[in-house]
Amino acid sequence: MAVLRLRFAGDPVLRRKTHAIKKIDASVQRLIDDMLDTMHAAHGVGLAAPQVGQSLRVAVIHMAEEEVIVLINPQIVKRTGERRIEEGCLSVPGYVAEIARSESVTVKALNREGRPFRVRAKDDLLAQALEHEMDHLNGVLYIDYLESADQLIPLESREETTVAEEEL
Ligand SMILES: [Zn+2]
Repeated sequence: MAVLRLRFAGDPVLRRKTHAIKKIDASVQRLIDDMLDTMHAAHGVGLAAPQVGQSLRVAVIHMAEEEVIVLINPQIVKRTGERRIEEGCLSVPGYVAEIARSESVTVKALNREGRPFRVRAKDDLLAQALEHEMDHLNGVLYIDYLESADQLIPLESREETTVAEEEL
């Protein structure tokens, strides 16, 4: 297992089309393990394959106290409502911004054993992470939703930077 190099906003790989996984082989298992290592090393709670330079439809999510969620070829099957929340991204270090996200999100995907499953989340960080990682797989960054870069809030302006543990 290895910590991979994170890609930051401006890197074209974050904008590239991602490809579905056709076979969950040893290279995919290794990518998942390396993505988990990379996410944990960066103290993030979510990571998508483009953030480590891979144009593949794979994402991982790991919230404190919760089990790791591995999403292979995920699809959003339902989202409802809207809420405004603050968001950060490992590929946009040092900033957060308030954006609109859905209230509830249901995603279907394959797990790392290739079994289909669904995950549903409502009004929480998991719901936010699911949409955020799906965006990464579609070449979208949360900063795309901002009308101007002035809406980015530098984390150093905060007295407490607890948000750093919620980067996705
Ligand atoms: Zn992100």
